[in-house]
Amino acid sequence: MKKTREVKVGSFVLGGKNPVRVQAMCNTDTRDVKATVKQIKALENAGCEINRVAVPDMDAAKALGKIKKAMTTPLVADIHFDYKLALEAIKQGVDKVRINPGNIGDMAKVKEVVLACKDKGVAIRIGVNAGSIKELKKFSGQPKWNDKKWAQVMVGEALEQANLLEKLNFKQYLVSLKSDNISRTIAACELLAQQTNIPQHIGLTEAGSFLAGTVKSSIAMSRLLSQGIGATIRISLTEDPKMQVRAAYEILKALGLREYGPNIISCPTCGRTQVDIAGTVKALEEKIYSDKELIRLSTGKKIAVMGCAVNGPGEARDADFGIAGGRGEGLWFEKGEIKYKLPQKIWIKRILEEIKK
Ligand code: SF4
Repeated sequence: MKKTREVKVGSFVLGGKNPVRVQAMCNTDTRDVKATVKQIKALENAGCEINRVAVPDMDAAKALGKIKKAMTTPLVADIHFDYKLALEAIKQGVDKVRINPGNIGDMAKVKEVVLACKDKGVAIRIGVNAGSIKELKKFSGQPKWNDKKWAQVMVGEALEQANLLEKLNFKQYLVSLKSDNISRTIAACELLAQQTNIPQHIGLTEAGSFLAGTVKSSIAMSRLLSQGIGATIRISLTEDPKMQVRAAYEILKALGLREYGPNIISCPTCGRTQVDIAGTVKALEEKIYSDKELIRLSTGKKIAVMGCAVNGPGEARDADFGIAGGRGEGLWFEKGEIKYKLPQKIWIKRILEEIKK
């Protein structure tokens, strides 16, 4: 496993041997400070460690200071083209800017941004997306490249940008290489990892809906993460941004890289089921994964929500505790041992009580 260099982003150090940090991006209008802070708070409660917001204009850039003051996690400003927005974001106290130095314009402007970042200890992410690389302008449609060629072009473009920073002796930056295509993304990230020790922000871009996007992201991210590629992860989903956080952690959890909440085991239900198991699991997850303290307290616990007493307690024998449904009620069991009956309306309350013990 290749060790990358380290980059400081607010209170976190990314890269090296540090844990892979989870980030998400708000979908509020950044100029609406109240709405953006509300969403960031919800993301922080869900365990999000780094939050990014879009900065489309100067009003959005000027709102960043107020947003930053109201949050506890590092703030990333997402900026395209206008270096003045980057300078304002840095002035407002952000911890990182996502910007492509090559899009800023002449070297004097790049230098101004980099010097401001150096001065304030602000990191940079160079974000190269397959759909917007410069090389594509030479083609009317999609070029017929294989993954290797895509990777070479994307990495080439990222390194061109990185060289602008290196020339100014600036090393506090990460690179991301994203595509909506799994094998293309993997090839590009692997190539960069082979050629450099730059820490990477990983994720697919435009991955799709919650289920499709999570499945695709899991396949791509597991390949990269299991090789030690990825200092921070963002799962792009057409969903409530809280689900980006959830999906990222579930991937890291499944790979044994991070811990995050309980292991909830629940049955698929069948003709024997006489209670709402799907609704119970959904409500339970919503409660736990929107409360940092519940996430912490439930971490490492195995909780069962099973549809019937015929197979439930037995099949979920190794769960710490759980419920097996009956008609409007259920059996509370611990380590496979049935304890007592419990009406369905208090199942969630009882499980939360047990988590808090
Ligand atoms: S635990 Fe019971 S209700 Fe659930 S799938 Fe198995 S037999 Fe069906």
